Amino acid sequence: MFITLEQQHSSGTYIKRDLQIVRGEGARLFDAEGNSYIDCVSGQGSSNLGHAHPAIVSAIQQQASELIACTEIFHNPVRASYQAALCAAARMPRVFLCNSGAEAIEGALKFARLGTGRTGIVSTMRGFHGRTMGALSTTWEKKYREPFHPLIPDVIHVPYNNIERLEQVMDNTIGAVIVEVVQGEGGVHPAEAGYLRAVQELCHAHGALLILDEVQTGFGRTGYLFAHEYDGIQPDLMCLAKSIAGGLPMGAVLIGERVGEIPPASHGSTFGGNPLACAAALAALEVYQNTDLIQRARERGAAVMTYFRENLPENIIREVRGRGFMVGIELRGKVAPVLSALQAQGVLALPAGATVLRLLPPLVISDDDLWQMVDTVREVLHHAV
Ligand code: PLP
Repeated sequence: MFITLEQQHSSGTYIKRDLQIVRGEGARLFDAEGNSYIDCVSGQGSSNLGHAHPAIVSAIQQQASELIACTEIFHNPVRASYQAALCAAARMPRVFLCNSGAEAIEGALKFARLGTGRTGIVSTMRGFHGRTMGALSTTWEKKYREPFHPLIPDVIHVPYNNIERLEQVMDNTIGAVIVEVVQGEGGVHPAEAGYLRAVQELCHAHGALLILDEVQTGFGRTGYLFAHEYDGIQPDLMCLAKSIAGGLPMGAVLIGERVGEIPPASHGSTFGGNPLACAAALAALEVYQNTDLIQRARERGAAVMTYFRENLPENIIREVRGRGFMVGIELRGKVAPVLSALQAQGVLALPAGATVLRLLPPLVISDDDLWQMVDTVREVLHHAV
């Protein structure tokens, strides 16, 4: 009945799976019939802390009874605490709070224009930065972009992991370079060693700002709180969302010294910095910082990828890529039938393009569930040929 209702009234923009999810607990999701699934979709990466994490539930309950909404024209103690904690964690001085990944990208693009007075943006091929008009302009996939032309001008796409091609387009019209630390939607492609450092150096040399899109890679997903820690670099603007607030909608733009002053009233958001999201995000950050979940994801993720490399035959897979619990298996065939077969076997996973199977287990997944998922993937892929 509810499936029919959604089919009648949803916008139509989503390709839906034939599954009604009604409850979640840890790394497990449950359908209307009570069947349980190991969740490697993680709400498109927004549930790094799993479902119904007690610290998030209690923070939301407590804050909801005190104050849910409070526009940023007023000060608020929960927001203040969160801003200070997030800035300290990111080692960046200021933050703009918003409500989603695309909104964080829009903010960063506007701050880059304000900070440099330049309109040029360099993005990367296979990059994904969201669906709003500015974010979409920096996204690569043509089928997402082309129906919406004209987009914002002066955006150039260069190949990812190719510093020579970036160097060729850098000049004094470029205000910012925007890049993911691991390309997620584009096929789970990690930055090669030294690439991001070279991007940072080129930005500095040409007076441009480095925007890191850590919307998907942030908050422990890759085995570090922020994935760029692995590369030892410092962004000028860093976009965050997805798992920032334990599953509640929220986004953030961290703002570095090189951006300069941001004039009053130059940007804003009604719900941005609302105390409910800030309380959930503060609780989430405490869990990320005070448990071994992130280090565990780094170690277990590496073990899982080694296992796949050693146990999946070359006639089925081309490559296993990723970092931490952001795992991509590039198949020789299409991923869609594999996703359906996995679902039938109790594992929910994602595609990343037509041929890459993307596994984003919540960081809280138990060892039993993790290796059960790995076994199921191995079995399904063996039967896929
Ligand atoms: N940037 C990256 C790297 C993403 O993976 C996504 C979403 O998948 C976005 C931006 C957009 O985030 P949202 O869907 O919250 O707008």
